[in-house]
Amino acid sequence: MILEPVVKVAKETFKKPYTTEFPEHRESLTDNYRGIHKLDMTTCINCQACARICPNQTIEMVEGEADTAFKATGPKLFPQINLERCLFCALCEEVCPTDCLVLTKDTDFEKFDRRDFIKRPEDLE
Ligand code: SF4
Ligand code: SF4
Repeated sequence: MILEPVVKVAKETFKKPYTTEFPEHRESLTDNYRGIHKLDMTTCINCQACARICPNQTIEMVEGEADTAFKATGPKLFPQINLERCLFCALCEEVCPTDCLVLTKDTDFEKFDRRDFIKRPEDLE
């Protein structure tokens, strides 16, 4: 009886650790992994379709500066994304008519300040 816990401890001792050193060692990503967005401000036509379809009100349209092909009058509004609210559902990517907003495999989620999760359009380029 007394041997049982000793055997258990010995088994656990030689097992591989369940955790890894982060961020030095990262799990490999699956093919369908969805990470942080990338925005091409030069082809964004400021249509707001991404903000409208977002199920979690993650996208706010904010003024931004870009030499876009779309020459509308008035302020140009581009998506600003709050990654804390994002579900990574990719609906914004699907609906974008110019394919200028895409989800990448970027996993840069280690932040010390919550405000760093809010990505202005320029941060997404
Ligand atoms: S991936 Fe989904 S939740 Fe995230 S910003 Fe796009 S539509 Fe919104
Ligand atoms: S990112 Fe795409 S869907 Fe969003 S405003 Fe620009 S063009 Fe429209």
